[in-house]
Amino acid sequence: MRIPEQILAECHAHGVEAYPEESCGFIVGNIDDAESLETVHPMRNIMNELHEEDPEQYPRTGRDGYMIDPREHMKLERSLKKEGKQIKVIYHSHPDVGAYFSAKDKEDALWNGNARYPGITFLVCATNQGKAGDAILADFNTTESDFDITEIPEITPVASSELLGGTFGVSGLLPTLDFIHEWKNGKTELEYGYFRFVPPKQVRTFQQQLAVRHQARHGLAYSSGRSSLLELLSYLQDSSLLTNLHLASSGTFITDALPSLEILPQSFNLNELPDAENFSANEGDVILIVSKNSIKFFRKNGEWLGKFKRLRVPVIVYEETASRFWQADIQYEWPIGLSYWIRGFTHTKSRYFDCGIAGGIILSNNDRQMAELLELRKKRGAVLSARNAELFCEKSSVNVENSKRTSEYSEEVETEHGCVHEEAVSKQLCAWENAAAGLLFPSGMSAIMVLMNLLLKKDKPRVIVIGLIYSETYSLLRDSGRTSNCDALFLGLQELERLSEVLTEDVGMVITETITNPLCGVPDLECIGKLANAHGVPFVVDNTLASPANCQPVFWGADYVIHSTTKYLSGSNDHAGGAILVKCPEKLNALKEFQHNWGLKISPLEAKVLRQRMHDFKERMQRFNENNEAVAYFLEAHPAVGRVYFASSQYDVSGSPTTKFLSGNGGVVSFVLKNDTEDNLQKFYDGEFTSILKAPTLGSNQTLVCPYSMLTHYHDSDEDLLEIELPRYLIRIASGSEKEIAPIIADLNSALARTTLKDN
Ligand code: PLP
Repeated sequence: MRIPEQILAECHAHGVEAYPEESCGFIVGNIDDAESLETVHPMRNIMNELHEEDPEQYPRTGRDGYMIDPREHMKLERSLKKEGKQIKVIYHSHPDVGAYFSAKDKEDALWNGNARYPGITFLVCATNQGKAGDAILADFNTTESDFDITEIPEITPVASSELLGGTFGVSGLLPTLDFIHEWKNGKTELEYGYFRFVPPKQVRTFQQQLAVRHQARHGLAYSSGRSSLLELLSYLQDSSLLTNLHLASSGTFITDALPSLEILPQSFNLNELPDAENFSANEGDVILIVSKNSIKFFRKNGEWLGKFKRLRVPVIVYEETASRFWQADIQYEWPIGLSYWIRGFTHTKSRYFDCGIAGGIILSNNDRQMAELLELRKKRGAVLSARNAELFCEKSSVNVENSKRTSEYSEEVETEHGCVHEEAVSKQLCAWENAAAGLLFPSGMSAIMVLMNLLLKKDKPRVIVIGLIYSETYSLLRDSGRTSNCDALFLGLQELERLSEVLTEDVGMVITETITNPLCGVPDLECIGKLANAHGVPFVVDNTLASPANCQPVFWGADYVIHSTTKYLSGSNDHAGGAILVKCPEKLNALKEFQHNWGLKISPLEAKVLRQRMHDFKERMQRFNENNEAVAYFLEAHPAVGRVYFASSQYDVSGSPTTKFLSGNGGVVSFVLKNDTEDNLQKFYDGEFTSILKAPTLGSNQTLVCPYSMLTHYHDSDEDLLEIELPRYLIRIASGSEKEIAPIIADLNSALARTTLKDN
């Protein structure tokens, strides 16, 4: 049976509407045409009512079960009879658990081992995170006395967009507002987007290849095996799925690393495996096996592992450096009972890799958990670098034993620790920032996440956030609070008089940005620094927007300075990275230990690229400042422009100009149109720009424009936006370091002229 696309879309739409509960209904066709499927009839799911009346007989709710309202069903049957039609398909949705024919589905569809509804097909539609996913059809096969399953892949089309930054580009272009609407409403997926939100093609290929090789439905790649494990454990901890960790490992890093997550595991011995029946998912038991050779472990203990399938206790098998991992011809069988298989492939020295390679992957068949982990990776940023993904795939497509590498990386000579570039970059950053020491991370967000982990503890969960900072940092701090140690208090830039009163014993850190993204607020660093220092509270400053050329937060009392090196420092849109610099050398050890224990180093290849790009940073930054100033003054004078948000136009609370903290304004200027409507924004944005590119990043050598709030706060209500004083139709210009500013101004001039043209 083939379900017509429109019919399938309607069934999916019902699932999306009912989400997070299950939808159910029928597909109807002509009695005398076996192939005909004409109309969808959504039915009421009465599972919640049954559960409420008799929870013992009906333990499921609408969240994980369905029962079609018999009265609606009867009514439909009567009217169909008159029209010469009949029910051909019974459909229902699976919120967040994937499309499969579950044991319960099967039980309901059978009667004494035969089909309960002969000739009727079952359709199960996956609704993942409220969006339509894949689907399956289940048909009863009378010879086999079982159901034949046909998979129907996801129908979301991929919108092709252009990539900014070449092969390893970190951002896609967003051509029109309609394009953005389609993407944000889940109607299309982006082929290219900002690297944390839409993984680069090389990473997607890597994940797919590895998932197929391991017979897993999902693969999520990270900066290392250890960071893969960190992300999984943090996720399980935060979603209350992990209360008791049972660990089998032989003196590896894990025993040093777990206390930093405040996890105290109970140990067991791999040679004396405990009875599986002792564990219970309801008690929050999770098994973690750190194995030197997972394949051997599975071979030896397959039967024991298999028992966990029924018990539903999550079992994680972690392998730090998977042997022969990059040999593409090796296929693995997914072990029964295994929930997550984590495999790392970080080598700082290897006879196969001239330059180090770093990465890791979580493989799993758990649809919902992997979808949630994917969402978390966007924020927490421990991503696999596209360069490493490509190198891995390239390596694994040849027989590494016999090959001599010929790629662009091969001129690299292995250095003692494989981190010569990282050391050179952090030394340079420290010199510019007047900091004592620094470390590099896989992305700006991963640097932020590390500091949250390090500074926020059970007895110090509070973080004071000053100003409207970068949306992802803001939401990471706001939303991490459920069970982890993070309780954010937000203070406006003009509310610093409240700071000393809120700097209580339980505050683990104060965080702000030197120039806030996107509204270009400039906090009074001196005031915050003095108060935080006096209370002994770590002061964290994200200096990404001002850059080390314009501000040295250490001078104003910052204990930790953060950078997203993805931006100005590289400028080329083909590098992802982050940095943390410390004022006092003694702060380095704990940071280094956390980074080492959880594999959160920048990869050697990314550090190398950053080092190359940084050589002319100071000159480029000068031009960023000048160009941005020219753009800001042009906008401020333009009659079609409403409010302009620019660092120089902001004043700190004491009334002193921002020049006190900044020697330049950086490269961002945001504004709203005088006629501040979506139609007008569309006229501005959708038209042609000849020199400016339409992309969501900043710090790029080429000037970029984006409808900022539509990208970052699309689903927020007007009240939400009002509360943070963020205009819905805010336009952000991320000035570039072009030598000629005239074409940029001309582009803006034409775009603004479009907004004042009368419609015919
Ligand atoms: N900090 C600021 C101020 C940013 O603007 C960004 C990204 O736009 C980040 C941190 C996160 O950096 P990354 O995208 O490299 O993770």
